[in-house]
Amino acid sequence: MFSYDKHFETALETLRRENRYRIFRELARERGSFPRATYFDGDRTREIVIWCSNDYLGMGQHPAVLDAMHRCLDEYGAGAGGTRNISGSHHMICELERELAAVQQKEASLVFSSGYVANQTALQTLGSILPDVIIFSDGLNHASMIEGIKASKAEKKVFRHNDVDHLHELLKQEKSSRPKLIAFESVYSMDGSFGPTQEIVELAKRYNALTFCDETHAVGLYGKCGGGIVEALGLSNEVDVLQGGLGKGFGVVGGFVSGTASIIDVIRSYGSGFIFTTTMPPVVAAGALASVQYLRHHEEERYQLFDRVERVRRSLTVAGLPLKETTSHILPLVVGDSAHCSQVSKLLLEDYDLYIQPINYPTVPKGTERLRITPTPQHTDEDTQKLTDSLTAIWAELALQVAA
Ligand code: PLP
Repeated sequence: MFSYDKHFETALETLRRENRYRIFRELARERGSFPRATYFDGDRTREIVIWCSNDYLGMGQHPAVLDAMHRCLDEYGAGAGGTRNISGSHHMICELERELAAVQQKEASLVFSSGYVANQTALQTLGSILPDVIIFSDGLNHASMIEGIKASKAEKKVFRHNDVDHLHELLKQEKSSRPKLIAFESVYSMDGSFGPTQEIVELAKRYNALTFCDETHAVGLYGKCGGGIVEALGLSNEVDVLQGGLGKGFGVVGGFVSGTASIIDVIRSYGSGFIFTTTMPPVVAAGALASVQYLRHHEEERYQLFDRVERVRRSLTVAGLPLKETTSHILPLVVGDSAHCSQVSKLLLEDYDLYIQPINYPTVPKGTERLRITPTPQHTDEDTQKLTDSLTAIWAELALQVAA
């Protein structure tokens, strides 16, 4: 007889043997103290400093966001009441969509329960509704894009990460009459690299292809209004679909796509992951709306973030730690194997009260295992020094490779 338990245990054992078993730390992020948090270490608790949050600007604790959520909860209650298909669209969600469209300089936006669902649903819908479409997908695209493309059953060709010449070669091979879609990201979150948005847009125009750009790690952070890299580059009219997240730079949760009224209406009308699921609670939409509005009119947090990123980058570089070269707000520190990567993370937490989750295969290729460091405006000079000193001590203790 087939032993289900044995099969599950074997699958988990494989992960443990390869040092890929994921351990998620139990934390409480208290209001007003981010990036400090309480770590639940068995039956003890202690204060730690988080260096791996995607709440890049600390908006998850911003008074404007929290006040809006309190007010909304008192006014509208807990849930949205069902799927929009059955129960209508809550006013707060519609307000959020109008604001997102304005910030991204697009005709319309559509909100989803997460950025994952936004990508998955939008790409599945576009890939299945366009006749005989071929989708060109960057080699490092996020799992949610890959899943959406797969579910659409459209033909897919993968171009080498950020390799515009390779994309060009692949585009040239297709008949000019065939519908084409190019899917890429503006910021690749594991490498901290920027996508070649301008060059991709130029190729797309030449070959009459639609463009789909994931701005999950850029919205709130880049552009004068926090619209993302596409806004910063002045390309809002050139990229057809912009996808973004509400849980990272905006500090709440959810995702969205923005585009022309007709593209957004098609996703709204055909997207299974939009139609058949309960809408996000109005209180979440209210928090996200307050965050988007705040960052549209305030640049301080962005300046402070990039100032801190530069300080951390300089400090780690001077200490000879092997930071991957990036110009974005994400600082990948390459360890190079999963056992050491997990060990560095463990020592940081146990001996220095610092939390950085190890990033191992399959999230990144084997041999490039890393710590993904994400400074925030709330980290101080003292925090930065402690991070550098702790990492330097651990590097020496484990005899790890330093920068060339
Ligand atoms: N797109 C990219 C590039 C991501 O890194 C992620 C998640 O980290 C997502 C989409 C999914 O976003 P969310 O966490 O809002 O589901």
